[in-house]
Amino acid sequence: MTETLDIKITKNQNSSLAQTDFDNLPFGQTFSDHMFIADYVGGEWKNFQIIPYGEIGLSPAISALHYGQAFFEGLKAYKHADGKVSVFRPYKNAERFNKSAERLCMPELPEEIFVQSIAAVVDIDRAWIPSKANHSLYIRPFMFATDPYLGVQPSNTYKYMVLTGPVGPYFSKTLRVKVETVYSRSTEGGFGFAKAAGNYAGSLLPARKAVEEGFDQLIWTDSKDHAYIEELGAANIMFLLDGKLVTPSTRDTILKGVTRDTVIALAKEWGYEVEERRVSVAEMLEGAKNGKLTDAFGAGTAATIASIGEIEHEGQLYKLIDPSQREFSKKLLKTLEEIKYGIIPDTHGWNYMI
Ligand SMILES: *Cc1c(COP(=O)(O)O)cnc(C)c1O
Repeated sequence: MTETLDIKITKNQNSSLAQTDFDNLPFGQTFSDHMFIADYVGGEWKNFQIIPYGEIGLSPAISALHYGQAFFEGLKAYKHADGKVSVFRPYKNAERFNKSAERLCMPELPEEIFVQSIAAVVDIDRAWIPSKANHSLYIRPFMFATDPYLGVQPSNTYKYMVLTGPVGPYFSKTLRVKVETVYSRSTEGGFGFAKAAGNYAGSLLPARKAVEEGFDQLIWTDSKDHAYIEELGAANIMFLLDGKLVTPSTRDTILKGVTRDTVIALAKEWGYEVEERRVSVAEMLEGAKNGKLTDAFGAGTAATIASIGEIEHEGQLYKLIDPSQREFSKKLLKTLEEIKYGIIPDTHGWNYMI
């Protein structure tokens, strides 16, 4: 970066830090004292501000509320033992932010505005970053349409904002999952690859049904035949099958995760053969039966590495090997944490220091 963003800062005079219970941090419910906000008006991004976290006034006619021009990102900041703070691979999220924007007919946000706005909010709320193991500061950048106009057309004005909040581990147990064979998260030609708000709205009902049936998560499958695996809830899905790291190749129905990319890079370095390809439900279940499926997990920023313990498919239950015996995901989780918290050297340049 050559120039720094010109940000107007209004400090929060009423900090809620002292009242926050850092031993009890359910995901996404606690917000730090400040947030970043900017406007897209007249074809450019302007009014870069950091203001106290709180309500903002908006017209009830804004197009984001009616036609869903809204999307987000998710990344994390970590506090190292020496007090230094890093954000994990923010340029990857910046790149994806613009892929989402393009698909939803929304304006591009220069990558430097994305990364610097994040650096600025993380910096001002450094005291909010937990120092406990497995804890971090979750960062939520998002953009939404603000034209107060009920016609179905792309908005001319938008807001870009960044919220942050301390979080603990997302899933603490091994997951019991169900292969979804009725509903779809996304379709070919759709926008499953974007972190579009609407994708998550569509996933809520099938996810709730699965929870009512006693499952923690869904394995999404292709919308045509429900024969090929796509994702695990809002995380990418990865397997160790026949000793190889196997994961669905990204396409327009699958979100291209930063965690997924990181896992693939590490696996290759560790000498594993990596296959990014179509993965059928049949081969996953066959592997569960014959013991060749020795690891299965979801990979994402919020969930990190979430082990799958049991898989249900059309009434049949398949039990996988005990997570305590999974060398790959154990090593993965440990290495990822050690890199993010600066315990081992960051040889890939993944940590963006604040
Ligand atoms: C955010 C997300 C992921 C994981 O992406 P990361 O960059 O690793 O956090 C995977 N799938 C879906 C549907 C997501 O929303």
